[in-house]
Amino acid sequence: MQASWHESTMPPPFYKLTCSSSCVWERALLMQVHPCPVCKLEVGLPRMVPKTALRAREEFLYFECEDCGCLFLPESDGSMEETEPVVEWTPKSGPAAFVRRLMAGLHLWPPYMKAACMGTGDLQIFNRARLTKKTCLLDIGPGASVRVQGLREAGYDAHGLDVGSEDSLAAVSRMMIGDKWPNDIPKMFDLIVLRHALERLPIQTLAIVNKHINLKGCCVACVLLLGWAWRTYGTHWAQLNPPFHRLIHSSTSFSLLARESGFRIGRVVFDSNEGQIWSSDALQQNVPLTNMPTPTRSQRARMRRIAEALNLRQQGDSAQFYLYAQ
Ligand SMILES: [Zn+2]
Repeated sequence: MQASWHESTMPPPFYKLTCSSSCVWERALLMQVHPCPVCKLEVGLPRMVPKTALRAREEFLYFECEDCGCLFLPESDGSMEETEPVVEWTPKSGPAAFVRRLMAGLHLWPPYMKAACMGTGDLQIFNRARLTKKTCLLDIGPGASVRVQGLREAGYDAHGLDVGSEDSLAAVSRMMIGDKWPNDIPKMFDLIVLRHALERLPIQTLAIVNKHINLKGCCVACVLLLGWAWRTYGTHWAQLNPPFHRLIHSSTSFSLLARESGFRIGRVVFDSNEGQIWSSDALQQNVPLTNMPTPTRSQRARMRRIAEALNLRQQGDSAQFYLYAQ
């Protein structure tokens, strides 16, 4: 008997598909093999996302779930072998930035200011999460080792799992999949901060983290979100960073995952900045992130106003979720 139409085509490895090698319906069918990791729906839109690194022409097949709205890269062994490009847009510090940082610091106790790694965003997270010298803290994410070092120098009980390098990301991923907690850090914490780690780590990470939070403890999940920038720039949105960001949430999908992982959401703070506009504009005009021009003061001010307006409307491209055990 002849195979039915949806069984007749065996696709090439999905993460290496290109626009010319497979038509849209063939790509869409792959979602039946790799359903949404959050809500398990098998229906979604295929999205070919180009790599943003200089001169890179590779594309990766993501799916945008029709139900919960997340964007995900189907599981694959191959993409974990890639080397991460260093293309990160960081607003330059000037006198105005220094004043903002100082003002944020004044809301906290002076020891925070001694931690050289602390930026305004870090200070605000710790302020909201009520970090004290008695708090046992775990920082998970790229750059965690530097932040933890600064906090320890200031006398805090801080620990970190850095996922900034390929090796450390693979190691922490294996740890989360196998639910094997490392022996050299404590088992239970008062505060766990996930800084753009959930985009890279296996989906079970949040549930594993839940098991290591003390009663009345808090987990702060800093995540990218599909919002205005995704709708406006599509696959040129600079935060996509394929294939390293394997799962990017919508507000709906993250809320669903948080509940299923045993958390209730206490507070949500949108914290995106002007980078979502400037760097995505550059990519849309085929300007590599490493060659982006510096915005003028008025351009920066205008983009910052737009970013603040988007945050107020919960449409910014990143947010902090303050989670508590149910
Ligand atoms: Zn879904």
